[in-house]
Amino acid sequence: MRAIVLISLCVLMPLSDTAVTPLGPGGGTARSAAQPPAQVADAARVVTPTLILDHVKALSADDKEGRAPGTVGEERTVAYLVSQFKRLGLAPGNPDGTYVQRVPLIAFTGAPTAAFDVKGSRIPLAIPDEAVVVSRQGLADVAVSKSVLVFVGYGVVAPEFNWDDFKDVDVRGKTLVMLAGDPAVPDPANPAALDPAMFKGAALTYYGRWTYKYEMAAKRGASAAILIHETGPAGYPYDVVKGSWGRENFGVASPDEASRHAAVDAWLTLDRAKALFSACGLDFDTLKAKAAMREFRPVPLGATASFTVKNTIRTIESQNVIAKLDGRDPVLRNEYVMYSAHWDSFGKNTSLAGDQIFNGALDNGSGMATMLAMAEAFTRLPGGTKRSILFLAPTAEESAMLGAKYYAAHPLWPLEKTLADINMDIMNFWGRTKAIVSIGYGMSTLEDLLVVDAAKQGRTVLPDQEAEKGYFYRSDHFELAKQGVPALHFLHPGADYRDKPADYGQRMRDRYTTQDYHKVTDDVKADWDLSGAVEDAQLLFGVGLAVAQSSAYPEWKPGTEFRAIRESRLKRR
Ligand SMILES: [Zn+2]
Repeated sequence: MRAIVLISLCVLMPLSDTAVTPLGPGGGTARSAAQPPAQVADAARVVTPTLILDHVKALSADDKEGRAPGTVGEERTVAYLVSQFKRLGLAPGNPDGTYVQRVPLIAFTGAPTAAFDVKGSRIPLAIPDEAVVVSRQGLADVAVSKSVLVFVGYGVVAPEFNWDDFKDVDVRGKTLVMLAGDPAVPDPANPAALDPAMFKGAALTYYGRWTYKYEMAAKRGASAAILIHETGPAGYPYDVVKGSWGRENFGVASPDEASRHAAVDAWLTLDRAKALFSACGLDFDTLKAKAAMREFRPVPLGATASFTVKNTIRTIESQNVIAKLDGRDPVLRNEYVMYSAHWDSFGKNTSLAGDQIFNGALDNGSGMATMLAMAEAFTRLPGGTKRSILFLAPTAEESAMLGAKYYAAHPLWPLEKTLADINMDIMNFWGRTKAIVSIGYGMSTLEDLLVVDAAKQGRTVLPDQEAEKGYFYRSDHFELAKQGVPALHFLHPGADYRDKPADYGQRMRDRYTTQDYHKVTDDVKADWDLSGAVEDAQLLFGVGLAVAQSSAYPEWKPGTEFRAIRESRLKRR
């Protein structure tokens, strides 16, 4: 017999009436030890620098041709992962008996036009200098004609902050004009600073990401969404938007995909936006200040927008790779702990002189290799685990996390029974550290487990020093988090390296970012030191194992943007 009725406001909820040990405040230690610590340590010792390095070498070898979705490089990468999963005796992760999930993708290049009609005169927009326009519905021809423009502030609905920019206004068929970033709510005690109690102050939340804004426009039935570009809140200059949106874009090819997007997603430069507002007899800065207040209501601009987009589309057949270690508990085996690490890189560019292959050794050969090594550790646990463990290698992370997005929309195992996703994207190959940086610090109780296991290694967990960059929202686990699944994200999270100068970690990360990140030089390096990656792998093995064996559910912490959807999904169980 087990408790299926979940109390939505518990921090951690007892699941089974056997060995129930609810976590206390700030806890994270509730585990029903299925194995004595010595057996767990023995299994963890399977993870060695050589084991991880051998996998990285295989996955980033030239014969994988840079692991681009839809190429022979994909076939060889998928074959390697599947052969390793089989060697370890893991079960197929797809209920259809295979180790893959087909992911149909499209690549599209658009030729757009855009114009505003204000007080009887037409104002055409120069693309891409004044605006970029994309249609992600997978259609060859898209037209939006004279759609009413409505300024919706930040376009945010955040129940945990009692915030709703839309109020009762119906925006179906309209074109939403939105501000970039989180609502910039001033601190009542110091109006020059942001209120730390609202949208995490200076840190970026999900509500500030451009993807959220476009998703919200689609959810509300808008025809088009226009984000006003401001370098501060967006995090990068308009030239970056212009460069990345002007070239070929990727999307999921699925019949229901059209409903997930408005017909048109666009960015508009700040200058052009200010000119539009003043042509409408409105002041941009005044309305922007109003948008930082809870009582803000949408403001019709008294103008319309028209767009056309002609898309040249090609289709790509790709795959997520997934394996499963079946749990041993007759009931809990139907609940899942997921590890994820994307397999794709950027393929090859035959126009380059010299090296043409984006081997992606660190990004993300290192994450996949670590996942394979951990999978091996799990197979060495006497008695196995109570819950089942999923090992997912999504495709097309480098193209807007499309493989993970597809999995989250078409899960092979119920998301409300998926207790956690532990994601690895670029591991620390520069030596042992005394601390781990938690990306998305303070978001979920998985971090409490991380703290406990890190302490056993004599290590501490530090907050993300660059929370305003929103790294938590930039890898595959985010797609699962959006659907409520508690997630932990590992991105070269080392700090305070042992026996190294204080600035060593920052120097190594900067060197990687400037010299090798997303370049053909992301190769296996002679000076790598995998001792820290081994410790991190053993740590993440311990965290996943704790979730697999514990009587408690990981949870998003109060004030976290994914908590409400998790609670509503759990109620539906
Ligand atoms: Zn990556």
